Amino acid sequence: MSGRVVVFTGPSGVGKGTLLRAVLADHPDVYLSISATTRNPRAGEIEGHHYYFMEPDAFQDLVKCGDLLEWAEFAGNCYGTPRKPIQEQVDQGRLVILEIELEGARQVRKSYPEAQQIFVLPPSLEELESRIRARGQDEEAAIQKRLAKASIEIDAADEFDLQIVNDDLKVAVRQLKDALFSPDQTDEAKAQNPPVAGIAS
Ligand code: ADP
Ligand code: 5GP
Repeated sequence: MSGRVVVFTGPSGVGKGTLLRAVLADHPDVYLSISATTRNPRAGEIEGHHYYFMEPDAFQDLVKCGDLLEWAEFAGNCYGTPRKPIQEQVDQGRLVILEIELEGARQVRKSYPEAQQIFVLPPSLEELESRIRARGQDEEAAIQKRLAKASIEIDAADEFDLQIVNDDLKVAVRQLKDALFSPDQTDEAKAQNPPVAGIAS
């Protein structure tokens, strides 16, 4: 049986990691891709679990060798998806989730055009900023870069198959689970409620 790829995108701080943790807690069979990055680890982040942390030269070697399915620069650091584990996990029949930013999502459309693409929106830009700050793990300069990127990413939300507004966490988790595991139900919901264009008001 062949698996499938899901691309999961949304501005930094919108709650992507929080939503995915909730899904993985109930569906440990889902494979969450582990990216390579040149960013420094945050407190509590574990090498080989949250990311493969590496120097810029080592990252460029991966790029040159074609070992990355996609990669992009985000807020001053490089991030990329190792190609081999994705195909291996798909071949084993697993649902593979790539939690990546907009440029990477666009690249994946070329190699996995059938991949489901989901975008997470914040209820407002003010709430997004307060979530990034409440997380308390980024320097002020990094917060500013992430907020500047957020508006660009939100403007591209309607390129995605489905938009989920992460306002009430429980509701958003339910919508994500429906999208991943009961896509027919999601199609019905989309027909009744056409996709949110841009940010929720
Ligand atoms: P991302 O992975 O998109 O960068 P995180 O999952 O790290 O975002 O979430 C950023 C912050 O927002 C965390 O402190 C998290 O607890 C909080 N958060 C996530 N979802 C919600 C929500 N629905 N309501 C309020 N706070 C949330
Ligand atoms: P963070 O530094 O907050 O962990 O991640 C910053 C941004 O990089 C987030 O939007 C996250 O989704 C994205 N990201 C993480 N891994 C990858 C990756 O492998 N490729 C791309 N293109 N973006 C990634």
